Amino acid sequence: MGKQGFLISVDEARRKVLDRALPLPPTAMALEDALGHVLAEEISATTDMPPFDASAMDGFALRSEDTKRAGAETPVSLSVQGVIRAGDASALALARSAAIRIMTGAVVPPLADAVVEKEAVEEHDGRILLRAPVPPANHIRRRGSDVPCGRRLLAPGHVLDAPSLFLAAASGRSRLTVGRRPRVSMIVTGDELVPFSETPGAAQIRDVNSPLIGAFLREMGIDPEPGSVVRDSADDLAVVLGRSIRQSEVVILSGGVSAGDYDVVREVLKRVGAQELFAGVSQKPGKPMTFAVADSKLIFGLPGNPIAVLVCLYEYVRPAVQRMMGFPEGNWFLQESPARITESITKKAGRTHFLRACVEQSENGLVAEILEGQESYQVSNLARANAWVVLDADLRAVTKGSLVRAHLLPGARLRSIAVEAGKLRGRDMGRLHPAGGEIA
Ligand code: AMP
Ligand code: MG
Repeated sequence: MGKQGFLISVDEARRKVLDRALPLPPTAMALEDALGHVLAEEISATTDMPPFDASAMDGFALRSEDTKRAGAETPVSLSVQGVIRAGDASALALARSAAIRIMTGAVVPPLADAVVEKEAVEEHDGRILLRAPVPPANHIRRRGSDVPCGRRLLAPGHVLDAPSLFLAAASGRSRLTVGRRPRVSMIVTGDELVPFSETPGAAQIRDVNSPLIGAFLREMGIDPEPGSVVRDSADDLAVVLGRSIRQSEVVILSGGVSAGDYDVVREVLKRVGAQELFAGVSQKPGKPMTFAVADSKLIFGLPGNPIAVLVCLYEYVRPAVQRMMGFPEGNWFLQESPARITESITKKAGRTHFLRACVEQSENGLVAEILEGQESYQVSNLARANAWVVLDADLRAVTKGSLVRAHLLPGARLRSIAVEAGKLRGRDMGRLHPAGGEIA
């Protein structure tokens, strides 16, 4: 509901938000703290990897040529000259017709060109007996054979997970330049709210948006600034909003953006000098969502309804924050997958609908069960919802079995479902419509 009741489309709203969500300047941090951040520099190998010719086995280093004539009936005997352990820097020179006991990861001595594993030899009285030749290069990890010095290992934009941090550590990096996480403040508004840990009095309700927004932010590795709960008072809100804008790059408000007499958010945005970019999106839930900027700070005015908050957080706030943190475009949005719906549904044309759904894996792709209770005050289906199905604004009906777009929540784990013989239920749609279909 803009001033004139004008609603912009979901796509336009997303574009306006993302246009303002510019990547923050990168920052340097200890490798141990960089998990989940986005790399903002290139990382190249500073040494050959492996750094020296190393044994891949516990066994014996030898000259393969000395073993050439070894056979089952004509064993070759070599004297054992000494031992090289992993970490030993001393390089024993290998004598003719000799072998050196060597451990996995130890430096292969000069003149040795192969390693035989200890299980393949017989050992008596300081000698080993071989009954087969050992080919050159056997069980030797060649210096630089995996990565030569200077080769690029990680490119900017790489999202740092355990394997990539191990690569960075292997190239000797203790500090990394990464995208910075924005400081985020949250403000919930409403005279009816009490902290969720308290028992509401008559006509009061628990504030669940604070823990919801907090958890959403922590999922992205962001520790929010301490949250504020503000009464429906323009004066109170102006103070808190002004402070939040000063101390953070993103402010998330909930409640008070509709057209009610006590919905003060838009008035206060104006008062603190923020520029409103839209107020009202043709979507359900979340129609009154408002977005404003103050300098380069982003201000999301989300409706109070927790289901609307949930959808707006994942559809708008998350893409913006991911972009600010330097994530590549492919990581901004929830994963979108086509899925077949298990029941026919109808809707009014006009608004994009986000319907809470349970998406599962069948042999013929994903199936989406639209869960009961889609009104925005109904929350009982949240325990089963792992996605929402997005139905475009102009759509009026979708028939059972046709493909729709599902947006999977970040933690979604898709259960595999098997079709029981002779028992086709709605959720077995993949079987009924095995061929492709149009995305609704
Ligand atoms: P509003 O957008 O302020 O009109 O609020 C819409 C609905 O969401 C009302 O039913 C509010 O009571 C409810 N609501 C607002 N804020 C919260 C909150 N923090 N936690 C739970 N429900 C809320
Ligand atoms: Mg309110």
